[in-house]
Amino acid sequence: MIVPENMKDQNVIAFFTEKQEGVDQKVISRLSGVPAEDIFFPVQRHTDSIVHVPGATQETVADSVVTTERGVLLGVKVADCVPILLYDPASMVVAATHAGWRGTAGGILGKTIKVLKERYNSLPDDIIVSMGPSIRWCCYRVSAEVFEAVRSATGEGEYHILRDGGICLDLPSANRVQALREGVPEENIWISEDCTFCYPDRFNSYRYDGSGERQGGFIGLKP
Ligand SMILES: [Zn+2]
Repeated sequence: MIVPENMKDQNVIAFFTEKQEGVDQKVISRLSGVPAEDIFFPVQRHTDSIVHVPGATQETVADSVVTTERGVLLGVKVADCVPILLYDPASMVVAATHAGWRGTAGGILGKTIKVLKERYNSLPDDIIVSMGPSIRWCCYRVSAEVFEAVRSATGEGEYHILRDGGICLDLPSANRVQALREGVPEENIWISEDCTFCYPDRFNSYRYDGSGERQGGFIGLKP
């Protein structure tokens, strides 16, 4: 279990799990102290859809979920994609976002930040963003098409390297650029150093072994 350094706040529960903890509702309930029935996972489909709790059901398809409800724990499941947690302690709103290359190309993090600003009156200076373990530029070689899709949504910035004639993409860095563009200050953004592909003993990595197992990112306002 990894607690992001920028979310050690008495009003919020925020953590990323590793392989051994996974995403089982009972395990997450035990780790967080939140009753299993109050843990919400959207049905992830690599979309740019953002939903709200209450409102969304366990059948709702979305890759980003937002709540101001205390006592609810939002979760996203990942195995290489980036789990992103957002928290605004001024407006008391939290969000959990799943960003693979498709979600990043869809601008899902930027859109989630826009929702916080427009619907919950968040100021960008108050929004804290944490990104959990994901596949990093050391291991994430992508096609020119994938890179172009991410670049068209992200714009200029440092989020890829060229190696052996190929393109290696860093999705957390691309998402950082998207957050910066929405006005979130650099110092409010925390990114895990861990690469899921580099550490298959610690993390599930779809690209490493094709496993269907997942770890997660979780966030909720304390009751
Ligand atoms: Zn790696």
